[in-house]
Amino acid sequence: MDVHCTTCGEPWNVYHLWQEAIFETELADKEAKAWRSLPRNRKLTPRYRAEFRAAGWEFGQGVINVTRCPCCPDDAQPDAERLQTKALLEAMLGDDEDGLAATFEDHNF
Ligand SMILES: [Zn+2]
Repeated sequence: MDVHCTTCGEPWNVYHLWQEAIFETELADKEAKAWRSLPRNRKLTPRYRAEFRAAGWEFGQGVINVTRCPCCPDDAQPDAERLQTKALLEAMLGDDEDGLAATFEDHNF
């Protein structure tokens, strides 16, 4: 399943977001590995968000909702309508990340 960056539209495989993107950060290998098994609500604490941001990633409530990615041009801004719609879907389905990813894929988000 692929989801798309809200800002540049780049497709990202959800497996990459769940399992691999964390290794693009400066976190030590051991910590990055441990991150993968954290519960969803502990994956994007301010500290991890800062690590991801430094690597070019920004997310909504969870990593399925990519709002900015390493492919984004520096001055690019997120599409406001898409940002809002994805936030709404995430609020409804966020606890079910598979369902959310499938819904994003269905809508080409
Ligand atoms: Zn992007």
